[in-house]
Amino acid sequence: MKKIGLDAGHGLYTSGKQTPDGIKEWTLNDAVCDKIEEILRDYDCIVIRTDNNEGKVDESLSRRVNAYVTAGVDAFVSVHHNAYTGKFSDVTGVEVYTDRTPTAKDERLAECIYKRLVKYTGLKGRGIKRANFAVINQNKVPAVLCEGGFMDGSFDYKIITSNEGQKNYARAVAEGLIEFLSLKKKTESGEKTEVIYQVWENVKNKWLPNVEGKNDYAGNFKNAVCCVRANLTKGNIYYKVHVMRRGGKAARWLPEVKNREDYAGNYGQPIDAVAFRTDTGKTLCYMAHERKSGRWLPVVTGYNEADAKNGYAGNFGNEIDAVKVYFK
Ligand SMILES: [Zn+2]
Repeated sequence: MKKIGLDAGHGLYTSGKQTPDGIKEWTLNDAVCDKIEEILRDYDCIVIRTDNNEGKVDESLSRRVNAYVTAGVDAFVSVHHNAYTGKFSDVTGVEVYTDRTPTAKDERLAECIYKRLVKYTGLKGRGIKRANFAVINQNKVPAVLCEGGFMDGSFDYKIITSNEGQKNYARAVAEGLIEFLSLKKKTESGEKTEVIYQVWENVKNKWLPNVEGKNDYAGNFKNAVCCVRANLTKGNIYYKVHVMRRGGKAARWLPEVKNREDYAGNYGQPIDAVAFRTDTGKTLCYMAHERKSGRWLPVVTGYNEADAKNGYAGNFGNEIDAVKVYFK
């Protein structure tokens, strides 16, 4: 299993490192790193973050280096955003850095990421450069530092603060690492197909982390689930939810969703039933946990609105607060 060191540069309270209107660089770096981790979750690798994952502490550069070198990672990437004068201007572009005395592997890692960074972000390529950045300044582990656009570039700002732009930055780094380390998708490396899924709950008003496997479930008991999102490590999953009556809106099944092309549900509107199916030919099992009774309802394997026994999981009128989905 390959190991990757991933670093969101700086911390939430690092002075000076921010957009002209005060968005902290770490926040942008962290958003990209989270998206990189999400992509790499499907590959046969382990990602080790070397920054403080809440941004509370700006870990020293020597601690970051020490963390990834002692962990024995196969590659290290530090994610940053650039700044020029600190005031908005037309400065623009992306860069990838190696240290001043790069190894051949440093250079290849830089190349794997740089070509994609230019392509996916659509920003000007300012080149692969060398600098004595302490966080990459060792020759034991292939290491690069990426600058994914200027926080004070009027054009770059719009891209780097958008979800789409951050996704593109993440894709460039993740796919660069996949090429550099020849990472394989988990299913290709012989692991069995899994459902990866998550729910949105209406107390915290947010998506809970993705879960997978027979021993886990998505949800916080007592907090009603409103939305579901899922994919398989191989093949397609289709699913839908039944929303409860709210205000003038009737209870009803919402349209079926495929993989993560969308999510099933409406934010703020609890659901009382779910249904899942796949095109894998394998038996998919799923269960709903009732908020009111505090119990798991029976396992369901079918997919049929008309079949209250084995066509969906849930009892109309009773909120669901957790969902469990797995292959038999
Ligand atoms: Zn930085």
